Amino acid sequence: MSSASKGAAAIALVVAIVGGYLWGRSDGQAGRVAPLTETASAKKAELDVYYPATEPLGRNEMRVVALGTGMPSPRPKQAAACWLVELGNGEKFLFDIGAGCHERLAAQKIPYDLIDKVFFGHLHVDHMGDLPSFWLGGTVMNRLTPLRIWGPSGATPEYGTKHAMDLMEQMYVWDIGTRGGVIDFRGGQLDVTEFAFDAVNEVIYEEKGVTIRSIPAVHGLDGAVSFILEWNGLKFAYSSDTIPNKWWAEHTKGADIAIHECFLPSVLLVTRQGFAPLEALNVGTQGHTSPEQFGKVMSMTKPRLAVGYHFYNDFDTQPEVMRRVRKTYDGPLALALDYMVFNVTKDEIRVRMSAVDEEIWPSPPMKKKNPPDTSKAIPFSDFTKSGVIPYPEIVQPIYDEINEIYDTDYEPLFK
Ligand SMILES: [Zn+2]
Ligand SMILES: [Zn+2]
Repeated sequence: MSSASKGAAAIALVVAIVGGYLWGRSDGQAGRVAPLTETASAKKAELDVYYPATEPLGRNEMRVVALGTGMPSPRPKQAAACWLVELGNGEKFLFDIGAGCHERLAAQKIPYDLIDKVFFGHLHVDHMGDLPSFWLGGTVMNRLTPLRIWGPSGATPEYGTKHAMDLMEQMYVWDIGTRGGVIDFRGGQLDVTEFAFDAVNEVIYEEKGVTIRSIPAVHGLDGAVSFILEWNGLKFAYSSDTIPNKWWAEHTKGADIAIHECFLPSVLLVTRQGFAPLEALNVGTQGHTSPEQFGKVMSMTKPRLAVGYHFYNDFDTQPEVMRRVRKTYDGPLALALDYMVFNVTKDEIRVRMSAVDEEIWPSPPMKKKNPPDTSKAIPFSDFTKSGVIPYPEIVQPIYDEINEIYDTDYEPLFK
């Protein structure tokens, strides 16, 4: 890691300590036994900070990484909604892929080939805004498999996931046109599964011992859902966005980790974000879940660890959010920040912060790269070609260098 990254890790550690979330245990023993000074000195740093790509996942272990925990508008500290679930059988899943989360995902140092499954809770931009970047950018960053997408239907077809993805492909026709003949573009294909938004606890995914079900959510319009992933006796529940509802209350009971939105208190929406009071009440309690409502939901469902997200989690907001959650819930709790990592086994739930390498490069592809299909290249017009200044005395030596190293015989397109 660079020194800047070590600094980021140290900051993350301090934030985690100051943040006051339940550290490392889910049995109600909030906080660490060790005093703060000992924790900060980090005798065993590897236990307190998660370093991506250095720590094997146990065969029976689930790792959940918060890649977007903030409000709809991303900010440097918190991207919009995105959660990564990694399982000990090698499978990986993204739940929502909101604006700003792609760089957090990159910081996890996972080869793009291994992240090909995205589940949308609903089609708000703060839950899907980084999909184009991940989808098309991923083709250059070595994803060589189609991107698989699951998302809900809407009240009518044009409000459904399939329609949105069809239009997204049309929206990016220029981008796709630039890539087809130049790179191995297999990762540009989309494999979209739209499921009924009103299906209750029905299986939408079942592969390799992993079962994912959807339940309806109440948020925005018809066509919002929450998810339940079960594998190896572990149960992960993710609300995406919803106000408290009977489906979540019934079907997520006893989850090992339950991630549910916990929006800013309405009064802070007025004082900090400039909402009109009625607007704040509507958004903060009727469109989203207030901290008090979140606490009530968790008291009813009793997960091993309750995780609240979807608010600006700062030194001066967290105490107020915590105070309000604690009016209605006294169980194990984490208030999420980006890069928070949860290792879930039947015995323990560990909560740490992930170190961040700000100079991350793409991992090598898992599959062999094919040469580009140059027949798919769309040629420039004679007009554009007429503008090229080829600088052969500069460009030819660059070709000569590569040809010599790799024993090839390539020539510049523009001469
Ligand atoms: Zn939403
Ligand atoms: Zn949202």
